[in-house]
Amino acid sequence: MKQKFETLSVHAGAAPDPTTGARATPIYQTTAYVFDDVDQAANRFALSDPGNIYSRITNPTQAVLEERIAALEGGSAALATASGHAAEFLAFQTLMEPGDNFIAARQLYGGSINQFTHTFKSFDWHVRFADANDASTFEAQINDRTRAIFIESFANPGGIVVDIKKIAKIAQKHNIPLIVDNTMATPYLIRPFEHGANIVVHSLTKFIGGHGNSMGGIIVDGGNFDWKQSGKYPKITEPRPDYAGLVASDAFGNMAFALTARILGMRDLGPTISPFNAFLILTGVETLPLRMQRHCDNALSVATFLENHPKVSWVSYSGLKSNPYHALQQQYAPNGAGSVFTFGIKGGYDACVQFVSKLGLFSLLANIGDTRSLVIHPASTTHRQLTDTQKIAAGAGPDVVRLSIGIENAADIIADLEQALAII
Ligand SMILES: *Cc1c(COP(=O)(O)O)cnc(C)c1O
Repeated sequence: MKQKFETLSVHAGAAPDPTTGARATPIYQTTAYVFDDVDQAANRFALSDPGNIYSRITNPTQAVLEERIAALEGGSAALATASGHAAEFLAFQTLMEPGDNFIAARQLYGGSINQFTHTFKSFDWHVRFADANDASTFEAQINDRTRAIFIESFANPGGIVVDIKKIAKIAQKHNIPLIVDNTMATPYLIRPFEHGANIVVHSLTKFIGGHGNSMGGIIVDGGNFDWKQSGKYPKITEPRPDYAGLVASDAFGNMAFALTARILGMRDLGPTISPFNAFLILTGVETLPLRMQRHCDNALSVATFLENHPKVSWVSYSGLKSNPYHALQQQYAPNGAGSVFTFGIKGGYDACVQFVSKLGLFSLLANIGDTRSLVIHPASTTHRQLTDTQKIAAGAGPDVVRLSIGIENAADIIADLEQALAII
């Protein structure tokens, strides 16, 4: 019988250390690995022996993390990276050539919008933004240089649930992969491959690590895209002179994407996760199902409290029956609606600034997915440089407060919000 999610969270990819018997996965804090002899060394460099060479490319602690997340997502293989942004970068680097484009939802983490809009331009990669609420806006922008579609499952700034199946159909029709950033949902709530996605990326920094103590990212290969037949991805399907003519799609089967990202992108660009961070994140993964359920249960209690508070003008949380995304949330994420959402305070900008400064249990900071409850007022911080019109378009109007609800006791979280709302 296939093991269940909770069991995989604890065990997938791990076994007692064969030399010491250590039960927890050790931190293999080493740069390089001794070869038995020259033949073995030669075979490793030729990829005919899959063993370790150098920790930029593979590391045993990192390998357990990769196998575990691949198992939780239902993918064929994974590549861990130094951060979520590094995962996005290497995923695109594997797919794109200069002059290519991709279609991305407009409703994304702000850092991804920056990366796509400004920095990718210097590689001659071009983003075209579409509306996550309307699949036809993706299709309308596809041309013969389009190499991927990129969406978030639960989209920023919180409260939006994307209809993954509809967008996957368009990607399929045009023979390009659908990449889903599954950071806000985690595989506990949504497994995008079950809905037609081909590649999943994560910021492990958020709920998967879960404790606000380490940066990390990961690319997961769905193993369900025919690169050869598509013919648009030379890094995956053309012979590699640096590996004696090896063709990744022939040599690596359904792991061709993840392995190409490793042996070309990671090898040459190098945003490797440290073994120590891989260890901390792996420890976090063991309790992912417990934490996510608590995050969701607490968030629903908090959203319900806020919805009924006289100083609150609106709450954007798909777990609420009144929310326009509630039906999609029930379809895609029946276990819960996540813990990141926004709400509006009637007094506007000044009331929001006063509110966040009066909170005690909540930490005012720019992060999500910590065990601790977090708050930010985007208009005075992350979106400060935008005009009022731009702020409203980005979901960061003057009255918007964003919460990431932690795993404390819900009554304590609500009490903190209540006392701060009472003061304004
Ligand atoms: C934080 C985040 C990222 C970027 O990840 P880092 O680990 O901070 O580099 C990407 N996507 C989403 C949805 C995020 O929340």
